[in-house]
Amino acid sequence: FNEIPTGYPAPGKTTIYDDSETIDLENVPLNSGFLIKTLVLSVDPYMRGRMRDPSIKSYAVRLCSTVSLIGYSVGKVLRSENSTFKPGDHVYGLLPFQEYVVAQDPKGYKLLENKEGLPWSVYVGVCGMPGQTAYYAWKEWSNAKKGEVAFVTAASGPVGSTVVQLAKGDGCKVIASAGSDEKVAFVSSIGADVAFNYKSVPTRKVLEKEGPINIYWDNVGGETLAAAIDAADVYARFIECGMISQYNTQDPYPLKNLTSIVSKQLQFYGFIVSSLHGKYGTQFYQELPRRVAAGEIKYQEDITHGLEKVGEAILDVMTGKNKGKKVILVADD
Ligand code: NDP
Repeated sequence: FNEIPTGYPAPGKTTIYDDSETIDLENVPLNSGFLIKTLVLSVDPYMRGRMRDPSIKSYAVRLCSTVSLIGYSVGKVLRSENSTFKPGDHVYGLLPFQEYVVAQDPKGYKLLENKEGLPWSVYVGVCGMPGQTAYYAWKEWSNAKKGEVAFVTAASGPVGSTVVQLAKGDGCKVIASAGSDEKVAFVSSIGADVAFNYKSVPTRKVLEKEGPINIYWDNVGGETLAAAIDAADVYARFIECGMISQYNTQDPYPLKNLTSIVSKQLQFYGFIVSSLHGKYGTQFYQELPRRVAAGEIKYQEDITHGLEKVGEAILDVMTGKNKGKKVILVADD
């Protein structure tokens, strides 16, 4: 990380690739820790929030310039002086965006058994933090009943596409939006009843025809949230997962219809995934890898090779160029 961006994070300016440091893998001191080789890194929308001015308070740890970016990752333990992990183990957790890392605290990492033999990248996507986001909050707040109408935005990404499939599984009629015809085709293929490209068809028009909606899964905020409030039935649940349309702008969208929250008795649930981990984490790992391996839950990945491409990958996720879960493959197993 190099400097705080004002708008979109620019590769080579906001973020830089630095290959000046080397590490002696055989002899680097572990000090009771363990040496991890990074295999897969996750690029997620929330990373933009780490690149913020110190005056702005938020949940994710803020980056200071000249430190490595950090994010959800899968790595392989090469050496260990800690009894929790042994060489050859695969671990999942927040890692610096580096090829190799000496980690100290085993509590920050989960041992991945991967009995299903899934590609490791899946553990930062549908079987990692984004899948947990969808699974935990859908279970906690959707209160979905058969025949209800659910609207999901950014529906081709790892969060949205998992929500689409959970909502279908609960018998909802699913309206889903995405930013290109190719993404819309994927969203239809995983079961959305009404999938549309919000860049060519106005969201309001679709919701007027297909609504009213009982559940809104918000990944984007802004004018789409305003349209969802107008299209909501009484007692609709709004699962406020993300507002990516607002992350890179200095000019936030002015919501003018908030009084409908009162008159329609809407339920708003803002959340951060980590707060639900204690309640649903065990169940998630028992269920999701098995269902993904069985083909019951589908996912799409957008793979970039090499740490030096991380800056471009972050920008792609912010501008919607990613087609599915954006992962960086750093090394083969
Ligand atoms: P995605 O992989 O779906 O990538 C983000 C997508 O957002 C882009 O591909 C793009 O899709 C869409 N997008 C970008 N800019 C805009 C815009 N201006 N207006 C509308 N859509 C836009 O991301 P994830 O599935 O990983 O995350 C989805 C959301 O979930 C994000 O808002 C994220 O912050 C949130 N999140 C929240 C968590 C929590 O704990 N609350 C945890 C994890 C994620 P398209 O081309 O379809 O527009």
